[in-house]
Amino acid sequence: MLTSTSIGCTTPDTGATRPQRAASPPDPATLAQGPAGAPPRVEIERFADVRLLRYQVPGFEELDLRHKELLYYLYEAALSGREIIYDQKYRYNLSIKRTLEEVVKRYAGDRNAPEFKALVLYLKRIWFANGIHHHYSSDKFAPGFDFDALKRMVKGTPAGRFPVRPGQSVDDLLAELEGVIFDPKVDAKLVSKSAASDVVASSAVNFYARGLTQPQVAAFYAGRLAPNDPAPVSLGLNSTLEQGAAGPVERVWKVGGRYTEALEQVVRWLEKACTVAESDTQRGALERLVRFYRSGELRDWDDYNIAWLADKDSLVDVINGFIEVYHDPLGMRGSFESVVSFRDAVATKRIDAIAKEAQWFEDHSPILDRHKKADVKGIMGRVITVVIESGDTSPATPIGINLPNADWIRTQHGSKSVSLGNIVAAFDAVRGGADREFAWDAADAERGSRYASLASELHIDMHEVIGHASGQLDPGVAPVHETLKSYGSTLEEARADLVALYYAIDPKLVELGLMPSIEVGQVQYERYIRNALQLQLYRVPPGGDVEEDHMRNRQLVAGWCYERGRPDNVIERRERDGKTYFVVNDFVRLRELFGELLRELQRIKSEGDYTAGRELVERYAVKVDRRLHAEVLERYAKLDIPPHSGFMGTRLVPVRDGERIVDVKLEYPDDFSAQMLEYAQKYAFLRTWS
Ligand SMILES: [Zn+2]
Repeated sequence: MLTSTSIGCTTPDTGATRPQRAASPPDPATLAQGPAGAPPRVEIERFADVRLLRYQVPGFEELDLRHKELLYYLYEAALSGREIIYDQKYRYNLSIKRTLEEVVKRYAGDRNAPEFKALVLYLKRIWFANGIHHHYSSDKFAPGFDFDALKRMVKGTPAGRFPVRPGQSVDDLLAELEGVIFDPKVDAKLVSKSAASDVVASSAVNFYARGLTQPQVAAFYAGRLAPNDPAPVSLGLNSTLEQGAAGPVERVWKVGGRYTEALEQVVRWLEKACTVAESDTQRGALERLVRFYRSGELRDWDDYNIAWLADKDSLVDVINGFIEVYHDPLGMRGSFESVVSFRDAVATKRIDAIAKEAQWFEDHSPILDRHKKADVKGIMGRVITVVIESGDTSPATPIGINLPNADWIRTQHGSKSVSLGNIVAAFDAVRGGADREFAWDAADAERGSRYASLASELHIDMHEVIGHASGQLDPGVAPVHETLKSYGSTLEEARADLVALYYAIDPKLVELGLMPSIEVGQVQYERYIRNALQLQLYRVPPGGDVEEDHMRNRQLVAGWCYERGRPDNVIERRERDGKTYFVVNDFVRLRELFGELLRELQRIKSEGDYTAGRELVERYAVKVDRRLHAEVLERYAKLDIPPHSGFMGTRLVPVRDGERIVDVKLEYPDDFSAQMLEYAQKYAFLRTWS
């Protein structure tokens, strides 16, 4: 079972609060060229509420051929699976994407007409979100054109090869898609988390057949859980639950099963990667991944994860599989993702220093003694340099990842935690003026800008390395997603954040040489509170609720501490010139509050206390102060910073001598639409209708 002890992605909060890495400056030789010696262009394009950025891959040129070749095969394996996420998210995503791509490629009419431009914009949003629902809010996009306009443009696309069903006419295809695209009420929400509704029936996500209900799914899996299995598989992780003649049936994602066309390609490239693996350990892990994709057996997935954890020394690393469960309202089914990377040795030293002291942090944690791990195992942290991301990690990306997700593997074999160094550096390069806008005064802002990068880096590292890894369940308590259900991810992310926050002003960090003074941690407190109560609201549409797990977790932490600290004025809400500010008056007391909430969240997790978890989330994490929200939107509008960022991928080009690869060139494409159309051409392995 996937449990949220893991659920490892630290999504970026806002573009305004990116940490920076002082270590390992980019190598000028590998930078994407700006015009005549100018620094590389980081921001490529903006549309709707997003911007596309580009990361650098310092150090790639210096790698030896074997590493480059290995990265190239893993890169192809990553991209070969990229369309799976479209189909996983929504059953019409591929047909809509492919229909619009035909129009964009071949439309013979006026390409400057407003309706064509609106169609292009809609398609870009789909590319960014891997589907027709917003990647963050999960709401369906409203296209800026109508059905008649779509029909006209399709008719005006003479050479179009539209993705019709067998025997279907293009007109019938359009008729089928009309409500799906244009009726805001049809499949309005990608993932529904409301406890008031049937989350399976009310989510558009394609993990469960239409018509299946939450009780039916629960009944299907109830018989399959072995309550005392010390090594439970991640039930449901790699299948669609379909409606068979005799009830629900799993259709497994594997070679020979669903998504076979893409998975065959993934496997083909992984097998090539095996031939140039750095070590027997790494080869063994890759071979087990191949075996899993072939068998679809969840035991093989666990075997692979254990082998992957055993590979501690390789320079090159890959995440490739059905990993995070955020898109499943029941937290079982994994979205396809891949992250191909190599280690940033210098920056990894910092994260190592924290990992080495994991037991000290566990021992000194404010959680109840019975919830502490006596022996915190195998926490491994590294900073990686990303070469390519695919599937659910692209274009929007995490900045930290902690895997695997299975609790028992984490307990027995440990976990790997990575910080995506070059991604974080790119975010930092475009950091805007929001910190300044929301800081109380100039001194505040100055201190913030001096320490923001280090403070954020340490927060990410601690969240991943000692946050998710800490604590233990009471004997006999089921994994979090079973006990805390749809609140599990939010509560687990909050728990990991609270571990990081609790230690942020601990002199231990100064002692370890990780920060010059506890002022760094104080800056983190101020920034965290402001981000949670103000900055991140920029990502919530007007009138909306907070939906995303990481946003909810921050809102919960800050909202709870604000309320609890009010008698002592720990966090003060001030106003000046009609603008609201949050100022931390008492860092020591705030740390105590973080500790209290951490102890309670650990208790909720350890005991599986669903009622208490739900009450916390519903009370503090969901609803937004409408007036404050409007104010934030207004202040942000003046700053001109899109609320969401994502990344274009690099392009790896093998240089061949006959069959043999003699070098691999890394390129930095700078046209998002061109890259998406290139991918659509090269990696469209899936059938539109399956
Ligand atoms: Zn996390």
